Amino acid sequence: MNALQVAIVGAGVGGLALAQGLAAAGVDVRVYERDPGPRQRNQGYRIHVDATGNRALAATLPPAVHRRVVETACLPGDLLAGFDSALTPLFEQVFPVTDPDAVNAVDRFAFRRALLTGLDDVVHFGHEFAGYTVTDDGVELRFADGRTATADVLVGADGVGSRVRAGLLPDFEVVDIGVRCVYGKLPLTDAVRAKVPPAFLRGFCFASDGTGRGAGFAPVLFRERPEEYGDYLMVVFTGTPELLGHSDEELFALGPDALWQVVVEGTAGWHPAIREVVAAADATAAFPITLRSCTRIDPWPTGRVTLLGDAVHPMTPAAGAGANTALHDAALLTAALRDRGVDGLAEYEREMIGHAREVVADSRRRAEQMFGPTRTE
Ligand SMILES: Cc1cc2nc3c(=O)[nH]c(=O)nc-3n(C[C@H](O)[C@H](O)[C@H](O)COP(=O)(O)OP(=O)(O)OC[C@H]3O[C@@H](n4cnc5c(N)ncnc54)[C@H](O)[C@@H]3O)c2cc1C
Repeated sequence: MNALQVAIVGAGVGGLALAQGLAAAGVDVRVYERDPGPRQRNQGYRIHVDATGNRALAATLPPAVHRRVVETACLPGDLLAGFDSALTPLFEQVFPVTDPDAVNAVDRFAFRRALLTGLDDVVHFGHEFAGYTVTDDGVELRFADGRTATADVLVGADGVGSRVRAGLLPDFEVVDIGVRCVYGKLPLTDAVRAKVPPAFLRGFCFASDGTGRGAGFAPVLFRERPEEYGDYLMVVFTGTPELLGHSDEELFALGPDALWQVVVEGTAGWHPAIREVVAAADATAAFPITLRSCTRIDPWPTGRVTLLGDAVHPMTPAAGAGANTALHDAALLTAALRDRGVDGLAEYEREMIGHAREVVADSRRRAEQMFGPTRTE
């Protein structure tokens, strides 16, 4: 029995995959999550899972949990395509579906719920991490409400605004790249489905009007629908605050209906089929986000506190790689802690940083292709 105690802050994609891997290896693992439950905030809708993510899921999850992830994933799509705003095709890549059981996209909530399978005693919701102190023989965690906990190793899997990172790497730089996204969803009833351009139901499609405004469309067609909702088309509209016609102050203060109106107005001169999709969307599901990226990832002296996922390599969603990289980290860290305990951390950090640097640079390049020049400071 491995006596190592690991505390993970953050029950997102990476933190939960790590918790599954460590629990299966007999490590005493606890996850502390600030949200009161698994479905509290708008965290986005659809996540594309690539070969890296699939390998990491297979390496990290116990078979029963992996099966739940596959069962609750989306039916695989086979298309990546670009259009202008008149729906003229600009490029198209087809990826034949060879393995019908492969996971190539998931609904974030269904995915997170599958990853929580069997972790009832491991994940502690309602624990907002506030800070830590490294002691002679471990780490003491402090929570916002005054509670404390101890562990041999602390893993910050607490996302782009990581407080664990703030303690470990206070000078780490995260920049706003100048692009805003408004996310929404179109419930795919039979009547609506017939009106959606067929390509939009096959994979990720991006239409752009040439000014820097763009819209992405991607289906979530469930293998096994959650009780809470059914199939939908994720719609995301992108542009700078200037192109969206609203300052950040205004945009982030808008209610969902008014926010969706920004998308309706932004696509007003676009192809009628796009306008129809936008008009039929569930406006109450709209929410805005700011695209951020780190500028560089420097190694730090290895100790008992480490980082994973967006906490250490926040990147734009342009390469669809953030969650996949968090899963990759989780698989690496599971193996390192399982096989070598605290001594495995140095190698984990070296490999994780090497991989993340490449992916962050790629996601930045793709953001420039999709959105035009992005801010770097
Ligand atoms: C709209 C959108 C679409 C995306 N699409 C894709 C895609 O298609 N493919 C892809 O690979 N990636 C995608 N990404 C990126 C991906 O979602 C992230 O890279 C991924 O979720 C990172 O996982 P993580 O575990 O590092 O952090 P997160 O999933 O962000 O989880 C962090 C967790 O930490 C918790 N937390 C934060 N602070 C504290 C605290 N102080 N105390 C306790 N808990 C705390 C949060 O509540 C959260 O649950 C997308 C992102 C967005 C926003």
